[in-house]
Amino acid sequence: KYDWRLRAKGSDEIAELSYAVNQMSKDIQNYQQQRTKFFMDISHELRTPLTYFKGYVEAVLNGMVTTEEDKKKYLHLLYNQSGQLQRLVQDLSDLSQLENEEFTLQRTRTSIETVMVNSLEFMGPSIEEKGIELTYELSPTPLYVSGDEQRLQQVIINLLENAKKYTPASGTIKVSTYQDKDQCVIEVADTGPGIPKKDLPHIWERLYRVEKSRSRDTGGSGLGLTICQKIVALHTGEITVASEEGVGTTFQVRLPVWGS
Ligand code: ADP
Repeated sequence: KYDWRLRAKGSDEIAELSYAVNQMSKDIQNYQQQRTKFFMDISHELRTPLTYFKGYVEAVLNGMVTTEEDKKKYLHLLYNQSGQLQRLVQDLSDLSQLENEEFTLQRTRTSIETVMVNSLEFMGPSIEEKGIELTYELSPTPLYVSGDEQRLQQVIINLLENAKKYTPASGTIKVSTYQDKDQCVIEVADTGPGIPKKDLPHIWERLYRVEKSRSRDTGGSGLGLTICQKIVALHTGEITVASEEGVGTTFQVRLPVWGS
């Protein structure tokens, strides 16, 4: 059928137009596929702890758990699973808040030293309790960024939590900050198992885990790094990772220094 809208157009323009429409429909299809995958993944994440939950309660109700010691063990398992669910729901709501177009950071002149000291004070005791050595080397000259202190702290705490989770006892976590030209650099390096090369590009994806059971056992939601990446991007910064299997992992955050 003759399309009047295209009457005045040359054939090049028609080709361009049809290419653009084609591209748009591919984008929509992609978006829908991603959405479906995300909802399927979320359902799976919720189903797993709930299945355990139900199983433990059934065992107690059916009189299969008799001794006080076993009851305690089951309550402990239930407690862990509910913590896992709580973490997942918290991270999901945090992520949707960060992805909301109306979300804005509470930016002020933020001292990186304050962010680091607060994060180290929060995570230090439990890292050392696990038998991991924690060392730090903070920039001798004060570094400031235009940042949301709470959100930046959230990023560093998340990186420290991961380093603690995946590094075995007697390993080392090293934290450092320095200035590189007009950028403030923060590094969190560990001597954990490292991340296989093929997984490296994917670790920022929602709910992506290198080894599903390893991470779930340690209480991760699989959203931590996605949240970190969003927060750093909102600060017009960059977060990258360097890792070698059997050697360790280093996360690096780069933020524009105050006034640059
Ligand atoms: P999780 O809550 O599962 O830790 P994250 O988004 O924080 O999720 O991390 C994604 C995955 O990247 C983890 O499941 C883990 O496999 C891997 N990972 C993250 N940090 C480290 C690290 N320091 N050492 C080894 N693997 C890591």
